[in-house]
Amino acid sequence: MGYGIAIVGSGPSGLYMAEELLKHFPEASIDIIDALPTPYGLVRGGIAPDHQTTKAVVRAFERTFARRNVRFLGNVEVGRDLSYEELKAAYDLVVLSIGAARDRRLGIPGEDTPGVYGAAAFVGWYNGHPQHRDLSPLLDGEALAVVGNGNVALDVVRVVAKTPAELSDSDIAAHAQRALAAARFRDLYVIGRRRPLDASFTPLELAEFGQLERCGVVVHDARLTNDVVPETSEKELKVKLRNLEILRRFAASGVDGKPCRVHFVFQAAPVEVLGGERVRALVLERTRVEEGRAVRTGERFELPVDVVVAAIGYTTVPFPGVPFDDSRGVIANDEGYVEPGVYAAGWCKHGPRGVVGTNRTDAQQLTKRILTGLESTPPPGGKPGGVLIDRLLSRRAVRVVDFARWQRIDAAEVACAAPGKPREKFVTIQEMLEIE
Ligand SMILES: Cc1cc2nc3c(=O)[nH]c(=O)nc-3n(C[C@H](O)[C@H](O)[C@H](O)COP(=O)(O)OP(=O)(O)OC[C@H]3O[C@@H](n4cnc5c(N)ncnc54)[C@H](O)[C@@H]3O)c2cc1C
Repeated sequence: MGYGIAIVGSGPSGLYMAEELLKHFPEASIDIIDALPTPYGLVRGGIAPDHQTTKAVVRAFERTFARRNVRFLGNVEVGRDLSYEELKAAYDLVVLSIGAARDRRLGIPGEDTPGVYGAAAFVGWYNGHPQHRDLSPLLDGEALAVVGNGNVALDVVRVVAKTPAELSDSDIAAHAQRALAAARFRDLYVIGRRRPLDASFTPLELAEFGQLERCGVVVHDARLTNDVVPETSEKELKVKLRNLEILRRFAASGVDGKPCRVHFVFQAAPVEVLGGERVRALVLERTRVEEGRAVRTGERFELPVDVVVAAIGYTTVPFPGVPFDDSRGVIANDEGYVEPGVYAAGWCKHGPRGVVGTNRTDAQQLTKRILTGLESTPPPGGKPGGVLIDRLLSRRAVRVVDFARWQRIDAAEVACAAPGKPREKFVTIQEMLEIE
């Protein structure tokens, strides 16, 4: 008899964990539980709709779900439909891979002014995440600022900057496609507290700004010098120097008479959002960088903008009973170990860092860790497993979406896509559940 394993969260970390665990426990029965009727976490709801090749990783994930001993229990939210205690009672091993879906706040006055959004909400809106589809961001202004210097900030600005034609082969949600087609932004700002050298952009994503149809790039007051901190690894150094080279190229080439500009503003910390009924401006303070940290200088300036998107990181949304580390915003864990029989993987373990593939390496390491802790895990078969969970969900009339049903939802989305679009996403759970 094999272990009964629950993996909560069907994003990359959950799916890589399933694969790794099956290598060592081929007889295990694995239930992959997700709050949404759709699997794949941020691959569906986070990765930019115009980056379809990145989403091709789902082909590998489909093979995991095709295994005889792996089930998908979609539309089942732990904390609502099942409790943490019930999971621990049912399964020999529980892996929590619930990601980090809550935006970190800027923590400045005016942050709740209409027109300020977190990146998780804004990205979720254009990606058709059911939780964010009603965001209706205010897009009728001329200027938008994204605070943050990672790839998520670049994604947001690029999606807003693109023309309808440039998005025509993406899987952007129809409501967002319409709203962005009607938007008339002329200035899009990417704001970082530190130097160009400190940005965590990847060169491929940065270079895309040189190819936008209606937007040129302006690089502001940037010290495009390579005074790299000595402890930077060779790999990191290569990325940073490549970013600098791209920014230098942008700075030299100007905006070419295009009607819209993407501005890179470095060494500027957000201080306050101005505006009453809606955003009027973002106040920034110049910084200098000391030992890798941004130190404010007291010199302030106002950026007249209509929308502010904060792309400064995420925290995990815990469910009742799960040990939580408030200071780090992740499930409390020691290299993945939470408590006997319970482990955390991916973004809910170490925070919002790394690309899809990083979760694979992480899953390999965590599986090793689980194997070394097996002496303290009771032998397999002592717990009822999915049978108990099925009974509880049935008693609670939860409409569980299994993998075959997801495949029908998937096929229906593909079938109703406009020409050129890979799919037209359903954006309400109700619509998804109507597909029998
Ligand atoms: C905007 C954005 C763009 C990105 N773009 C790229 C990119 O281009 N390339 C790249 O390689 N990486 C990209 N990444 C990073 C990549 O998406 C992450 O590395 C990866 O998704 C993290 O995987 P995860 O499984 O930890 O979390 P997630 O992918 O967030 O999966 C978590 C899953 O848990 C489920 N869940 C949460 N709470 C519960 C609950 N209580 N009960 C049941 N289920 C629950 C969620 O519904 C979700 O399906 C991007 C990330 C973001 C935010």
